[in-house]
Amino acid sequence: MKSAFLPTLLSLSLISVAHAQQTGKPEDTEVYEPVPKVVTPGPYTTSAPPSDAVVLFNGKDLGEWVSVADRKVPAKWKVADGLLTVDKAQGNIETRRTFTNYQLHLEWRVPANITGTGQVRGNSGVFLASIGQGDLGYELQILDSYNNKTYVNGMAGSIYKQRIPLANPIRKPGEWQAYDVVWTAPVFKSDGAVQSPARVTVLFNGVVVQNNVALDGPTQYIGKASYQQAHGPSPIKLQAHGDKSEPLSFRNIWVREL
Ligand code: MG
Repeated sequence: MKSAFLPTLLSLSLISVAHAQQTGKPEDTEVYEPVPKVVTPGPYTTSAPPSDAVVLFNGKDLGEWVSVADRKVPAKWKVADGLLTVDKAQGNIETRRTFTNYQLHLEWRVPANITGTGQVRGNSGVFLASIGQGDLGYELQILDSYNNKTYVNGMAGSIYKQRIPLANPIRKPGEWQAYDVVWTAPVFKSDGAVQSPARVTVLFNGVVVQNNVALDGPTQYIGKASYQQAHGPSPIKLQAHGDKSEPLSFRNIWVREL
């Protein structure tokens, strides 16, 4: 038992060190303006995977996904009728494969009967590089941002608590949304210092909401983001957010390595 516990304790203490300088309240990093203008996207069109894509979810199975809590365990969210639906009791899931620079397509849908307000209404997220358990990584927020006020650096299309989207092109709950992402991983020097930061471009329902923005570091719920730890190729992670609102569904997820 002792040897089994040791790595857990070690990783917990490393996480505490990484977060030790993060002080204050979550509200300290919430930003409420400028409010991105509402843009009505064009009619929905799907985007089938090109020939060189790695299909991460094709509507049938979760073979490309594992549990974040234990990467040896297959992901156990619900697959039915061609859709992947979050199972909040199972926690976050992430890809079996790791990626550095890539193009990602992902479709998501907030259920029509969604309840709640602000951050507890259809919250999920795509961690563009998962760098550890829980929510460690760089989160592109997923949220019902259709007539749902919250801090603008926490709405759909934001890089959570770091980059406000340039527009709000979300469709109503019950309709499908699409993210197309170009991710450039951060590069670290041999001593762990940042050589070049992560960069991200995001199209949300065909509208650019992040335009090749450089990131300050992985997402932080409390305190400012900064690069604490060098990392290499990383999984892509989907968030099971712990609020009580009805779970989201995903479909047609594919990635092309660049
Ligand atoms: Mg989220």
